Amino acid sequence: MNVHEAQTTRVVTLRKLLSPKECGAILSLAQEVERTDDEATLRFQNDVQLSQRGNWKTVYVHSGEAFHRQLPEIHDKLRAAIESADASEGWSLLTPPKKTATEAAGGGRGDICVRTAEVHEVLVGGTLPEPKHYDAGSLITIDVMLSQNGEFDGGVFRTLELQDDGCSEAFLEFPEFSTGDAMVFVSHKYHGVAPVSRGVRRVCVVEFWNGEERSCPHRCKRRAGKCPYRRPAREAEESEAGAARQPPLRVAGAGGAAAAPPTWVPKQYTGADDIKARQAEAKKTLRLKALKSYLGDRSATSDSEEEEEEHAAGD
Ligand SMILES: [Zn+2]
Repeated sequence: MNVHEAQTTRVVTLRKLLSPKECGAILSLAQEVERTDDEATLRFQNDVQLSQRGNWKTVYVHSGEAFHRQLPEIHDKLRAAIESADASEGWSLLTPPKKTATEAAGGGRGDICVRTAEVHEVLVGGTLPEPKHYDAGSLITIDVMLSQNGEFDGGVFRTLELQDDGCSEAFLEFPEFSTGDAMVFVSHKYHGVAPVSRGVRRVCVVEFWNGEERSCPHRCKRRAGKCPYRRPAREAEESEAGAARQPPLRVAGAGGAAAAPPTWVPKQYTGADDIKARQAEAKKTLRLKALKSYLGDRSATSDSEEEEEEHAAGD
């Protein structure tokens, strides 16, 4: 749906879509991912370019397929919610479910998958201020409130709506957004979050798109196939040793026999020990890379540019 048309759609509010227990499970997963996966957390207050977000932290809980693997019932519930809204609102954004061999074996349904599943933690001053922010490239976005009632002030979800005069625009606020409540909306609809004035606002945001389910720790732009997102540690390793001499990556469930392709390999959700070992290795290679760069060894510097555009991610 084009951006202009998307503005004519309305936000669907679903009260108590998730139970307090389910909200707690998402928060626990976010904590686990943040603790064990350095790359899956984006802290906006540390980034000059994105500083207008203020005190805003995003944890990509779909990283390493964590969201789908750890919380399959919640994944299915959110998916059912967006399908229901798509049908009842007449958006017709989702292709009809296809019955393929993959689906029969328990795989994805058709071409609509999770692009990104994020937990946002917003502290005082944190805001998504751009009036015309939208989730470019996705189809339907669902936000679920995870904070308990009274845990924060401000931070009201809002959309930008064309007024009856046909030319002026004004914010429409959604102050009644309680624990477990969900808002489903067309991803291309303008939306934002007013500044948080007290406490901590936590929401889960899942964007569905016409593409493969992603497991890379960012808001991906590659709809199918290998993601061009490259972890800094992997770049350093390749620069140091050359892709051909990489040790095989251990892939869970594959008996450790899988060879490592030279580019991004979707991370399997492994134990904390394994991740900590990788992080230690990554820090070591990054230090070496920095030192070589300082000494003028150009070969130690990767020429692949970061392609993702994080600021497109939103509430
Ligand atoms: Zn990606």
